[in-house]
Amino acid sequence: MSTLRHSVALMGATGSIGTQTLDVLRREVESFELVSIAGGEQLSELAAIAREFQVARVGVISEEHRNALADLLGPSTEIVVGPEGLAELSRDADIIVNAVMGFAGLPVTLTALESGKRLALANKESLVAAAPLVAKVRATPGSSLVPIDSEHCAIHQCLASSPASPGYPDVSRLLLTASGGPFRGWSKDELLHAQKSDALVHPTWSMGSKITIDSSTLMNKGLEVMEASALFGIEVGRVEVVVHPQSVVHSMVEYVDGSVLAQLSKPDMRLPIAYCLGLPERLGHGWGRLDFSQPIELNFEAPDRAAFPALDLAYEAARLGGAAPAWLSAANEVAVAAFLDDRIGWVDIVAIVATVLDGYEPDPLNSLDDLMANDALARQRAHDILHK
Ligand code: NDP
Ligand code: MG
Repeated sequence: MSTLRHSVALMGATGSIGTQTLDVLRREVESFELVSIAGGEQLSELAAIAREFQVARVGVISEEHRNALADLLGPSTEIVVGPEGLAELSRDADIIVNAVMGFAGLPVTLTALESGKRLALANKESLVAAAPLVAKVRATPGSSLVPIDSEHCAIHQCLASSPASPGYPDVSRLLLTASGGPFRGWSKDELLHAQKSDALVHPTWSMGSKITIDSSTLMNKGLEVMEASALFGIEVGRVEVVVHPQSVVHSMVEYVDGSVLAQLSKPDMRLPIAYCLGLPERLGHGWGRLDFSQPIELNFEAPDRAAFPALDLAYEAARLGGAAPAWLSAANEVAVAAFLDDRIGWVDIVAIVATVLDGYEPDPLNSLDDLMANDALARQRAHDILHK
């Protein structure tokens, strides 16, 4: 890595992506300085990170959390609160890592780009919900958006050899790989009996609970189809999903001449995180390095769209455009939280999202106020179904 030292702000520091980002930063103390962090409920973990990296500022979700954290950290650390606090921290550093879970990550995505920063984005929900708004702020001089999500990071790497003409006319398809989740091969009938304990065990990745459930319904892949379209400016008709149970090929780009480029590694999120931090250089730790002296099996199959209707719902939301992806994602967050709370069954998650999306009232999504109103309305509709 170059002798230049970059400052980093890490939002969602206590989560799965957050702690793996800290792992990378511990190995790269010469190149990066962590200056700000933010988190949710895990305050003692947040305090421990603040102490270890001696960060200047910490973001928390409420005044109550601020008081509790101040007791742990003492007066030398500045504590900021709520969405405004997240936005403030997103102006703090050269590189902003958005590893917050869900729509709550929106202020980070918008402010980092508006402030001309590099946004290393794990938080796909904010990009999916706010795509038209994100497209505007991405034009800010100096800003860049690099994807931590492994599929999109793979595509980013494969596209590097392509002339960056708008819409990538030489690309015929983006092929997003999906492990298929814990329920790959289950029939529709079997899925009626899917349990939370089964859904929470992912075959190849260890992740936060919300994305683990999204992976079990394939809603994660649906969100990723929209994420890919927004990131690379390629319409969803040219984004396809391929089930690949080994999670070694992280995604592929097929060009019009028939050539397919892929990026491979063992599943290890520290590789895409390090890629996003290091760009344009590669950090030399070999995360996820493959051993080619051993047999490596690579299988590919089509997703079962009847058993996993979330995928078609996501394409439908993308086709509707405007605020429809925001509705889908908001309803999904409410339904997944209810499932994790044992209030609904596994099949109810996507059924609730489908019902909410059915009632979508078209809105072109011109402003942040529009987005907040749409998010609130979709959540309300999902809650109404839960309370019926
Ligand atoms: P986790 O649930 O493990 O972590 C989420 C983090 O966000 C935690 O630090 C949590 O704090 C924090 N948080 C939650 N709400 C708020 C809020 N309102 N303000 C500030 N911080 C908040 O999730 P993951 O790390 O698994 O996922 C994070 C994002 O990355 C998601 O959008 C996910 O889709 C995406 N992603 C994750 C991958 C993975 O491998 N895990 C892969 C690709 C994408 P606390 O824990 O203290 O409550
Ligand atoms: Mg992914």
